[in-house]
Amino acid sequence: MQSRSGILLLVSGPSGSGKTTLCRRLAQSGAAHYSVSCTTRPPREGETNGRDYHFLTRKQFEADIAAGELLEHAEVHGNLYGTLRSEVHSFIERGQDVVMDIDVQGASQVRACDDAAIQHALVDLFVMPPDDDELRRRLSGRGTDSDDVIALRMTNALQEMKHWKEYHYCLLSGNREEDYERFLALLTAERLRSSRLNNEQG
Ligand code: 5GP
Repeated sequence: MQSRSGILLLVSGPSGSGKTTLCRRLAQSGAAHYSVSCTTRPPREGETNGRDYHFLTRKQFEADIAAGELLEHAEVHGNLYGTLRSEVHSFIERGQDVVMDIDVQGASQVRACDDAAIQHALVDLFVMPPDDDELRRRLSGRGTDSDDVIALRMTNALQEMKHWKEYHYCLLSGNREEDYERFLALLTAERLRSSRLNNEQG
């Protein structure tokens, strides 16, 4: 019997890079657990509490920080975002893979954490939009955010893209299907790492 430890797949990239779609699709296929983050940002139309995010007040969020419930947290676009330890630990211990949509500050906190299980599980990927024009088109095309929000996200996106070299893997986004194929290929290869395997034959 061969079993293996779980992977913690951190996925970053600017809004409009397509990273959320990749993470969600992977989770929907059953290949990984989607780590549902906490945020103080108000829900967008169509978003559900507990599925897309745990939507919290700032006070609730700060109480979670004080109680040590968060693996990392960061302020992004003026709102707090963070990962609950409970969305990660029990899964990777059971050999289940976890996928996480996370900004560059949060990813750097996870990389720096001294938890051996997290370090062993960690795989980090930066998803790059093809170019600035396509990024602007994708940010405007979403239709759920105001012009001010889009402008802020464009500025933040360009800042965020400067961090791609901090990640072990970088996927230059092109078309949706090819992006997903390459995303799956990364997970497949990481699952084959001998360091993740527990072979009871020795
Ligand atoms: P959005 O509001 O568009 O859903 O997400 C805004 C940004 O917050 C994205 O860059 C996303 O990756 C990031 N984000 C989502 N969840 C988390 C989290 O748990 N921790 C951190 N640090 N960033 C997150």
